[in-house]
Amino acid sequence: MSSIFDRHMSRGTADRLQRSLEAAGNRIAELRKQGICTHGHLKGPPGPPGTPGETVCLYCGEVFPSFEAAAAAGKKAMRG
Ligand SMILES: [Zn+2]
Repeated sequence: MSSIFDRHMSRGTADRLQRSLEAAGNRIAELRKQGICTHGHLKGPPGPPGTPGETVCLYCGEVFPSFEAAAAAGKKAMRG
């Protein structure tokens, strides 16, 4: 599995990755036009990722009990 930071990624893999990123961006933009937030800009408590505490979406202002809950809501919105 290649990472987006893989300097030796093949052109085919890079092209597939680019298409998937563009598709995700287009899906997010379309959902936003419909007034649906995918909670892609989150602010949680100070500390390393996974620190327990409320997490707020800086796009829509919705508050979640944890980062995981916010991420799950975002994924659910993406699936429709
Ligand atoms: Zn949001």
